[in-house]
Amino acid sequence: MTMLKHWYESKKPKKPVHKPLPETVLPCKKYDAIVVGAGPGGASAAYFMAKEGLDVLLLERGPYPGAKNCGGASLIAEHTHKLFPNFWEECECERIITQQAYWLMTEDSILASSFQSLKLAAAPFNRFTVKRRNLYQWLCDKAVSAGAELHLNHQVDQVLFDEGQAVGVEMSPPNQNRFLADIIILADGANSLLAEQAGLIPQVSPQDLALYVKETIALPAEVIEERFNLLPGNGTIIGLIGHPTAGFNGTGSIHTFKESININVGMAIADFAASGIRPYELLERIKKHPLIQPLLSGGVSLEYGSSAIPEGGYHAIPELVHPGLLIVGDAASLVNGTHGFNLAMWSGFFAAQAAYQAKISRDFSQKKLSLYRTLLNESFVMQDLKANAKMAALQRNVPYLFNLYSHLANETAYQMSKVYTMPKKAKRNLIFKKITSIQPLTKMASDLWKVIKVIQ
Ligand SMILES: Cc1cc2nc3c(=O)[nH]c(=O)nc-3n(C[C@H](O)[C@H](O)[C@H](O)COP(=O)(O)OP(=O)(O)OC[C@H]3O[C@@H](n4cnc5c(N)ncnc54)[C@H](O)[C@@H]3O)c2cc1C
Repeated sequence: MTMLKHWYESKKPKKPVHKPLPETVLPCKKYDAIVVGAGPGGASAAYFMAKEGLDVLLLERGPYPGAKNCGGASLIAEHTHKLFPNFWEECECERIITQQAYWLMTEDSILASSFQSLKLAAAPFNRFTVKRRNLYQWLCDKAVSAGAELHLNHQVDQVLFDEGQAVGVEMSPPNQNRFLADIIILADGANSLLAEQAGLIPQVSPQDLALYVKETIALPAEVIEERFNLLPGNGTIIGLIGHPTAGFNGTGSIHTFKESININVGMAIADFAASGIRPYELLERIKKHPLIQPLLSGGVSLEYGSSAIPEGGYHAIPELVHPGLLIVGDAASLVNGTHGFNLAMWSGFFAAQAAYQAKISRDFSQKKLSLYRTLLNESFVMQDLKANAKMAALQRNVPYLFNLYSHLANETAYQMSKVYTMPKKAKRNLIFKKITSIQPLTKMASDLWKVIKVIQ
């Protein structure tokens, strides 16, 4: 009971501990808006507000945009193109994704489903791989050229409030100064400690937060193209399911870049804690897989890192609008599966629109700023998250889903591929017996029903 009570208490936002603003400490300048975090969410919010003529301060703790992230990821072209037309002419993209594959894996086999089409290589394209550093830098450059002020090496320590209204931020040492603004936008990424500390959101549960490890491995462009069967400049993204996450419901992926490939793998922090598995061990499971090893052969490790992704889905989204304050991107748990870049950029865009309307009416109340939530609700961001709302619960309720069905699918494929001298009918019976010994038919039907209920 005590444990349950503790969990329940931690799900509720803590009572706000708002430090009052001392009248004696006056900063030199007051901005229209301060954005905390120069990732895709924060930089987009800063850009669109500055473009509308707002006086914007963008604060980033890293020495350069993207410094706190490693490797790269995929960007959905249409979502980005609608916000930043023909962005591929300005932002350095790595490869045009023409192939999307899923590999269901066991320790010694892979059942692959793959789609490749040259139609996906035509403008306005479908997906690109991008290096995070290039993406973050490009977005920050846009914000700065639109008029935003970017301060690097500035870690925000806390949000300042005046009678419940957010009015500014205080820096961590050595920049222990304060900045004031009419609107604060929190874009500080997964597990926003600033929002939690201010009592604006509950503590993120370890079941809703996944930890991912990633490694970037350098290989010559021609080697990548030959090994992954790609035309020059084209790329692939491969989702890895089953074996990489050691029996838990996580995912892995391989992304191809110009002259490197990225391997990502992760699962819920709660599963790491329960299993005692160390995050790097999952990466080793992929790199040591006998069918993946040859794809990496001769590669040189360039970077290694880890980051969190909020994976609680729609039901884990906290209150995003507060007096004088909006929360965007990962800080707002706006991630669908592992797709977060575009949701972060669009939430930054919607937050900028709400901030602009608030500025022209000189009304920074929660009610006025709720335009942000309205725009989010009407967009693909919330509608897609809502459509996948039951996914997180399914993964929790059927913890063996990915691993068991990867085994089952691979065993079926193996038996079907294997040539026996026995007659076809006997072979079919053998396959049926093999797969139902892994999971009884009734259990399979019940799992299938659970999946249908989620995706319908
Ligand atoms: C391994 C991995 C692979 C992924 N792959 C993809 C993919 O292929 N496609 C996709 O769409 N998404 C992917 N994502 C998700 C994507 O990275 C995020 O959804 C996206 O980066 C969210 O953007 P954001 O601006 O909200 O937060 P972030 O990108 O995390 O940026 C937050 C910024 O805030 C700064 N910051 C934090 N705290 C402070 C503070 N107190 N003061 C000042 N600055 C602060 C950080 O340094 C950082 O620069 C992946 C995530 C991971 C971990």
